[in-house]
Amino acid sequence: MKKMSKWKRFTFLVVIVLGPSANPSQAQTAGQPDHPAVTVQGQTYTPRSILARNMGTAEDQTTPFPPHKIIGNIYYVGTRTLSSFLVVTPQGNILINSTYERNVPTIAKSVEQLGFRFSDIKILLGTHAHGDHQEGDALVKHMTGAQVMAMAEDVPALQAMKPGGKEHPIDKVLHDGEEVTLGGTTLVARLTAGHTRGCTTWTTKAQEGGRTYDVVIHCSLRSPNAPTPAVIAELNRTFERVRSLPCDVQLGDHPAQYNLQEKYAKLRQGGPNPFIDPASCLREADIQEAMFHALLAEQQKAGQP
Ligand SMILES: [Zn+2]
Repeated sequence: MKKMSKWKRFTFLVVIVLGPSANPSQAQTAGQPDHPAVTVQGQTYTPRSILARNMGTAEDQTTPFPPHKIIGNIYYVGTRTLSSFLVVTPQGNILINSTYERNVPTIAKSVEQLGFRFSDIKILLGTHAHGDHQEGDALVKHMTGAQVMAMAEDVPALQAMKPGGKEHPIDKVLHDGEEVTLGGTTLVARLTAGHTRGCTTWTTKAQEGGRTYDVVIHCSLRSPNAPTPAVIAELNRTFERVRSLPCDVQLGDHPAQYNLQEKYAKLRQGGPNPFIDPASCLREADIQEAMFHALLAEQQKAGQP
């Protein structure tokens, strides 16, 4: 009897935590293993803690983070745990990551709060074909008429993403190294596969105070818990690649990947732009590469007779 009630309590808690509209990412958090553990710069991480850090609570995923200017013509318009970036140009704007479809009105509100028009979004880009980053693409396209561009290797996964039965719009297929230019701003699509086949890291340059800065918007570098040989090869290449990118400002598709909370608090205090922080550019790569190697070591150990 005691065991039964324990289970009931557990089920009740799971329902509370996940809510009625539990999505795969939240379910994934609950199912993530708490091993291996890696320590990077004094902080210990497990697959479970990394996903919890990335996703936060259901409320964190939908509550807007205060919209703000990051650097030059790049702004943050996402929620507490799902990044969405607006790049403003004289010929219209670029949005990176629509996130969940239910977040699109929130993103639109953040864009307007900054003094821009949501309808001025001409191009919609994404970091990778997972629902928490690109589920809202069809709705953004519907609301703005933006041209949707996607990395070729992520196209099949995007096409399978159909919120409410809507087709996922793809107007232009991009290839590694391709440039997306609007109103004098160029974003370069860099294939950093592993987390998804077409995971895309965006690089651009931003001007501030008479200087030019290299901005890197990372795709997630998180390895699957059981990487296949193909994914292992992709991630090996991706880490090497990410480490070779010139970087002054590192951003990521989850704010925790670049310590947004801490940097935003500094931004509010005034002083030098806290997002210009070359020293922290590889922090996320260090964490994810350490975890990747720990997962491989576990895999190897399990495979031994
Ligand atoms: Zn993902």
